[in-house]
Amino acid sequence: MAPTSKVLIAPDAKLNIIEDYKVTEKKVVEVPDRIVGIVKCVNPKCITNNEEMTTKFEVINKTNIALRCEYCEKITDKLHLKLVE
Ligand SMILES: [Zn+2]
Repeated sequence: MAPTSKVLIAPDAKLNIIEDYKVTEKKVVEVPDRIVGIVKCVNPKCITNNEEMTTKFEVINKTNIALRCEYCEKITDKLHLKLVE
């Protein structure tokens, strides 16, 4: 069930779109207001890390990347950001 495309958040807070694990299109786009899936919640007790469910985040800082989990409200920042496998 691996997704065919992943979005990486680059240090400059732009997104590179990676498809099939190869860079097929290196396009700079705006960071969205919400990120659904893709990123794991930093909180190990978060329901999204314990149940098979899709993560949802509100992007509260687009420059330095801070994502607030819509389930547990913990902030996942750039340093702790992990992609869903
Ligand atoms: Zn969470």
